[in-house]
Amino acid sequence: MQIAVISDIHSNLEALTAVLDRIDSFGVDTILCLGDIVGYNADPDRCVEIVREREIQCVLGNHDSWVCGLEGLDNINYPVRRTILWSREQLSPKNLDFLKRLPRKLSMDIGALAIHGWVNNTDRYIITTGDALINSELLAQEPHSPRLCFFGHTHKPIAYSTTESAVLVHRDELLILKEGRRHIINPGSVGQPRDFDNRGAFLIYDSEAGALRFHRVEYNIDATCRKIIAAGLPATFAERLKTGC
Ligand code: ZN
Repeated sequence: MQIAVISDIHSNLEALTAVLDRIDSFGVDTILCLGDIVGYNADPDRCVEIVREREIQCVLGNHDSWVCGLEGLDNINYPVRRTILWSREQLSPKNLDFLKRLPRKLSMDIGALAIHGWVNNTDRYIITTGDALINSELLAQEPHSPRLCFFGHTHKPIAYSTTESAVLVHRDELLILKEGRRHIINPGSVGQPRDFDNRGAFLIYDSEAGALRFHRVEYNIDATCRKIIAAGLPATFAERLKTGC
């Protein structure tokens, strides 16, 4: 089974369209999204619509949760809060309802768990090898103790493989999963990459081959930036798309 894994679309329609076009060219069996469909950029309603219409399996991200009102906005900085409130007004009732119903975890038939942040917390970041090891222990306590976990939230593609006491970090384009290890993997962000590569990111996992490959796709960044400015959203959100950080 071929599974495309995407994350952190963040209302970037141009990036989402370019990434889905590339994914479609591979003819995958299913697409999995690790949350944060909305936030930062200027096409929240259309992006949720596409995820919903294409029946992309998706978990809840922190921005999704803020926009649909599941969590309060008290501890969020002003530019993000402003964009959250603006995004909420753009969403149709049907798409708002879709966000509200997203699960925080999704267990896949292939033995993988999909999350946004940490296994037990949507808002926390897996940044260090220590974080990866703790999450590996949390995965061991989940039903069926999944050996494979896809996460988002950091907007940086990376793969950790863990044993009981050690963590290896992989940054190569191709990764062959190893028996006896647990793999915790981030495909990077479709709509706001933060690894100094401004192209949209995704990965494709081949469950029979036990292998996955990271991909990057160029898209029309200028068009996305113009929409951010035209909508009156913070200009810094346009700037960071250009630099990819
Ligand atoms: Zn995000």
